[in-house]
Amino acid sequence: MHKDVKKVLVSEEEIEQRCKELGAQITQDYKELNEIPILVSLLKGSVPFLAKLMKYIELDVEIDFMDVSSYEGTESIGDVRIIKDLDRSIKGESILLVEDIVDTGRTLNSVKELLENKGCERMRIVSLLDKPSRRVVQIDADYVGFTIPNEFVIGFGLDFDEKYRNLPYVGVLKDECYQ
Ligand code: 5GP
Repeated sequence: MHKDVKKVLVSEEEIEQRCKELGAQITQDYKELNEIPILVSLLKGSVPFLAKLMKYIELDVEIDFMDVSSYEGTESIGDVRIIKDLDRSIKGESILLVEDIVDTGRTLNSVKELLENKGCERMRIVSLLDKPSRRVVQIDADYVGFTIPNEFVIGFGLDFDEKYRNLPYVGVLKDECYQ
């Protein structure tokens, strides 16, 4: 375990197993809908999750990436600025948005609105982690890997100051590392 990690919340094995289950569920659901979604991954946190999950989605999906940042110091908290836009048009397409974590729900809500404004036909959300106790905007993912308590987590894509994204598990950072 990394020296800055207080405890492992979700192990590498648990992530692999859950991605397998989610992939099977997503495959079945979209087969029933007779749709093939474009997997839209939000940079950078959801990259490891996308990479693991998509192996288990047995559909001819495409992937695309988007990077957004929140406006700070304005009244429109939750509105997002696009840093990297999608490479392709999503008009009339089915989108499966891949997120690392839903916390207050503000990011997801803004991104959802943004993608709907681009004319996508249907949008579903898959998130590796969910912290429902922190929700400010009422939005839920359609597929959730793990529901976790209100703790600041790192690893498997999630960072603190851009570090720890490469850890293969999700863990809680030691308190002294915040100072
Ligand atoms: P929301 O807009 O739902 O409040 O926040 C979503 C974003 O905040 C996530 O995509 C993630 O980048 C960041 N975030 C929220 N909770 C955590 C956490 O516990 N750990 C880390 N590393 N990032 C978090």
